[in-house]
Amino acid sequence: MTKLLLEKEMIYALIEAVRLAEEIKPSQDAKRRAFRKYGILGGKRDPLVTAIFYGIMKHLGILNRMIKEITGAEPLILDPWFRAALRTVLEIIVFRNPSQKTLKLLDKPVAELISHKTHPYTGMYYHKLFETKLKNYKYKPSSEDEEIEYKYLLPSWYVRKIRELLGNETDELIRSLDIPLPISVRVNTLKTSVDKIVKQLKKEGKQPEVSKIAPTVIRFKGPYNFEKSPIWRKGMIIMQEEASALASLILAPEPGMTVVDIAAAPGGKTEHMGELMKNQGAIYAFDVNKLRMQRLKQIIRRADINIVKTYLRDGREAPRILGEEIADRVLVDAPCSSDGTLMKNPDLRWRLRPEKVEELSKLQYELLEAGWKLLRKGGRLLYCTCSLLREENEDVIVRFLKKHDNARLVELKGPYSPGFIPGTMRAWPHKHRTIGFFYALLEKK
Ligand code: SAM
Repeated sequence: MTKLLLEKEMIYALIEAVRLAEEIKPSQDAKRRAFRKYGILGGKRDPLVTAIFYGIMKHLGILNRMIKEITGAEPLILDPWFRAALRTVLEIIVFRNPSQKTLKLLDKPVAELISHKTHPYTGMYYHKLFETKLKNYKYKPSSEDEEIEYKYLLPSWYVRKIRELLGNETDELIRSLDIPLPISVRVNTLKTSVDKIVKQLKKEGKQPEVSKIAPTVIRFKGPYNFEKSPIWRKGMIIMQEEASALASLILAPEPGMTVVDIAAAPGGKTEHMGELMKNQGAIYAFDVNKLRMQRLKQIIRRADINIVKTYLRDGREAPRILGEEIADRVLVDAPCSSDGTLMKNPDLRWRLRPEKVEELSKLQYELLEAGWKLLRKGGRLLYCTCSLLREENEDVIVRFLKKHDNARLVELKGPYSPGFIPGTMRAWPHKHRTIGFFYALLEKK
């Protein structure tokens, strides 16, 4: 393995990006900001430093364990700059085979940065730590859980849950969560056609491939600068994965219908439903997140969809606000652990928590109940998530079906795999080259 050779600014940019990534999400935005400051962004050094940055994000749980072993303190109580420096330095020492020159830069220059950002004592403490423990540090997992986490770079409880679901396929699935997906966009057919966008993308030097499953979805290899793309700015394409696009196709709202999108932002599916409805009828879109709601408004404005009424309110209040049995279609695209999107959000893995799954499944169930109240007899409701966990998917539906004998699961016969209860469906990253997704279509008898 060749030795890693870094320059001081590259190390500083990494530490700053790691520090900012604690506050700015997605972490890609934090990275961009720090890389710009140190003149790394878009330059020759960018790909290497980016790879190390994502390495740190992926190893975060393991790096924290190393920090605890070395300092004797929980990483979260340390000064954030000191913590970011330790994470960066350990990533380079343990996983990146640094050259002697790089190792030297990890000593005093990093201590200087820490002194500058925190307090000279912290810098001095770091320098001492470097000499005594860091520079020759080797990590050895010391329990079965630690071994699992080291092997899979995922929390051990999570790996166990996936193993319960997939058995022998677990390794393949987890490997697939590391393979970046191509860029995926959906064409707004109210404004243009798939053919025209394919032609345009070819002109831009891309090799677009039209999805066989969601025929208005086009995929191509990145990078792609959306901000500068006229077809994106004019609302002709919307960023969306194939599995997400399929949700609105399954719910199939028609022109003139009344639709409630109970957790709608940032609005990819709201826009899609508006398009399927040919901009006729009404969509009531709820979400609690102001920033994401602003993005929803931008997306529908850009796409010229004008049948959406937005509510910055809890979806569970929707039946009280809109009245019961008023909707022909309800979409419950529930807030979830989002572990089906790990290939797009690598640092999410260490924020997955079993307590959070429990909390989410309660909220998911309550949103589903609210959605059901809104639904007219004969109407249809789609419950979906981008989580792979049974607790957030089949378990929510089983509990719901037990309580409601006027609910019927409409069988989904593909194009993806059957879920773990008959009639439901799952998209799997290792099988379908898209994000992980769960779908259950319910009809009110
Ligand atoms: N449907 C969206 C789309 O296709 O762009 C994605 C929705 S995302 C999976 C889940 C959303 O639920 C988040 O935007 C989150 O802010 C929202 N949310 C969380 N708790 C909520 C609640 N109690 N009521 C309504 N929305 C909620």
